[in-house]
Amino acid sequence: MDVLVDEFMNRVKSRNQHEPEFLQAVLEVAESVIPFIEAHPKYKKAKILERMTEPERAIMFRVPWLNDKGEIEINRGYRIQMSSAIGPYKGGLRFHPSVNISILKFLAFEQVFKNSLTSLPMGGGKGGSDFDPKGKSDNEVMKFCQSFMTELFRHVGADIDVPAGDIGVGGREIGFLFGQYKRIQGEFTGVLTGKGNEWGGSLIRPEATGYGVVYFAADMLETRGLSMKGKTVTISGSGNVSQYAIKKCIEVGAKVVTVSDSEGFVYDPQGIDSAKLDYIMELKNERRGRIREYATQYGCEFFEGERPWKIKCDIAFPNATQNEVSADDARILLSNGCICVAEGANMPTTPEAIQLFREARILYAPGKAANAGGVAVSGLEMSQNSLRFSWSGEEVDQKLQQIMKHIHRICVKYGQEKDGYINYEKGANIGGFVKVADAMIAQGLV
Ligand code: GLU
Repeated sequence: MDVLVDEFMNRVKSRNQHEPEFLQAVLEVAESVIPFIEAHPKYKKAKILERMTEPERAIMFRVPWLNDKGEIEINRGYRIQMSSAIGPYKGGLRFHPSVNISILKFLAFEQVFKNSLTSLPMGGGKGGSDFDPKGKSDNEVMKFCQSFMTELFRHVGADIDVPAGDIGVGGREIGFLFGQYKRIQGEFTGVLTGKGNEWGGSLIRPEATGYGVVYFAADMLETRGLSMKGKTVTISGSGNVSQYAIKKCIEVGAKVVTVSDSEGFVYDPQGIDSAKLDYIMELKNERRGRIREYATQYGCEFFEGERPWKIKCDIAFPNATQNEVSADDARILLSNGCICVAEGANMPTTPEAIQLFREARILYAPGKAANAGGVAVSGLEMSQNSLRFSWSGEEVDQKLQQIMKHIHRICVKYGQEKDGYINYEKGANIGGFVKVADAMIAQGLV
């Protein structure tokens, strides 16, 4: 089997040199899906995996804008339309200086599997820019978003491609992007998700990724007769995903002891309670400040330039960014007795670290399963927009919980190994693949 994976990867590599993140994401899928394809020759004959690793379309464009000093700045914009086999392209926009074609292709590729797992009719895509919203004024962010949408508008639409947020793109940015789309196209339509409640957004969309990852971890723990109650949790990140993961952890009686940003992490051995969470939300969302201020405010330690994985925990939620859990981090987590790792970010765990988790037989779930709650509620926002209706917060939360349970069932169905161990990575990859692959076969060679 390894030979088949190597042969496949050599073909992908030859077309995608210098794209390490994309190749990492493809290899992870290939290792679990190729044995399945060998057992199901119709997928091999139709070259499904080869077709899935080539984006249907990749758009790259210039984004010129004027800063507050009246100077011209230039950034690069992208939209990768990876797969429309089961629905319109769907996936977030990331604004971060690290953004490049490799990172967006890995994210778009993962999104195809994730969206398929949600059971909702959404294809996969991703986009963004190397623009850094950090330190920019509201006016500059608006100018950038307007210029970005002035090109992007011709490639998106409620039934074509529906972007949303990701790192660096939250409610503020979605508002500016939506306003510009409406102005150019003259159409009030569900072209973006993550919209404000007053103008077509869904309740629970801001909460969805963070709540979803905790619901998923609870389902994982249940397979071993365990629960979240009383568990010590380490979290990386302090943005939208982490904030609502903390909120749900507090609700279910787990103690979150870390939060972080790109400068370092805070360790609060007492645990983050509701009042401290309100402080984080105000700090990050209103003041757009740095997490080190939390340490000063509550008199706890700030670890400059470090990640929180050396802190003893039962459960870890890597919610920040790709490749933030190394093999060394994994060894420390395991030696400290961590039993569950559920990814709120996309591909935060390196392949070597995943292997260590698997060998140790701990509960490990990849982002494409564990963080699918965000895009799932985006799908529900699209449904509500089509219905011209809105569901209550309770209704959306119910549906989110059902979807997370559905994803968990799929992971068990395709991922359970002979010794009973649930390989969530394998389960998510095969479960996400089958639906897209069958749709591609049904639609002929496209
Ligand atoms: N950026 C999120 C993700 O990685 C959400 C995408 C969406 O809502 O379309 O899944």
